Amino acid sequence: MQVHVIPCLTDNYAYLLHPTGSREAVVVDPSEPGPVLEALGQRGLTLRAVLCTHHHLDHVGGVPGLCRTVPGLRVYGHRYDQERQRIPSQTDAVEDGETVALLGTDFRAWHVPGHTLGAVAWEVDGELFTGDTLFLAGCGRLFEGTPAGMYRSLVEVLGALPGDTRVWCGHEYTVKNLRFARTVTPEDPGLLAALEEALARRREGAPTVPGTLRGERGQNPFLRCADGAFRARAALPEGPVEALAAVRARRDVF
Ligand SMILES: [Zn+2]
Repeated sequence: MQVHVIPCLTDNYAYLLHPTGSREAVVVDPSEPGPVLEALGQRGLTLRAVLCTHHHLDHVGGVPGLCRTVPGLRVYGHRYDQERQRIPSQTDAVEDGETVALLGTDFRAWHVPGHTLGAVAWEVDGELFTGDTLFLAGCGRLFEGTPAGMYRSLVEVLGALPGDTRVWCGHEYTVKNLRFARTVTPEDPGLLAALEEALARRREGAPTVPGTLRGERGQNPFLRCADGAFRARAALPEGPVEALAAVRARRDVF
């Protein structure tokens, strides 16, 4: 699967996906229509579907414009969002673990409530599109969900996928997230190396995505709340969910 990063708005990423050699594509989280249509045109691709990770405007703002330009476009999101009609032009609803057949392959939806209650991560061929649930070295704010829900989504759902799964998230927040992670475990040499690498990529104007789940298990202070040794080293509450809540509260004001 070819994955093209499409920078949108200030720090959002939409993703254009197409199998090697295919002229058909799907887009994940089109914040705005212009850059997506431009990317399709440059590559001579035809858009077949939109995959939405959640209903926030900076992820779905481009959906109406794409639907006007591409007749018959399918728009997928979680059933929770469809019932509330909060993804514009949504045509299809998915539930946890369901697959959608597109471009000759299966896209799997993982329901990952926490940032919002209708949040979905999309997985295809070892590529994982996490929206605002899992960021590189971070996670999304708990606008609708609970710390327990976010813990389950991050650790038990996404964290259970293979370590070499590549992570493509909804925003370029990596540098700030790593700076924050260093306040949680300042002695961690891996975090300093990761920060320097992220800064170097940003200086070149390159995105820091993709990461990997294996990399996140080593650097993401929210995923690491599952690890008792990490909680002890960071002087976090003993319970993993309570630890995640404490880290999230500190990140909210960082
Ligand atoms: Zn969001």
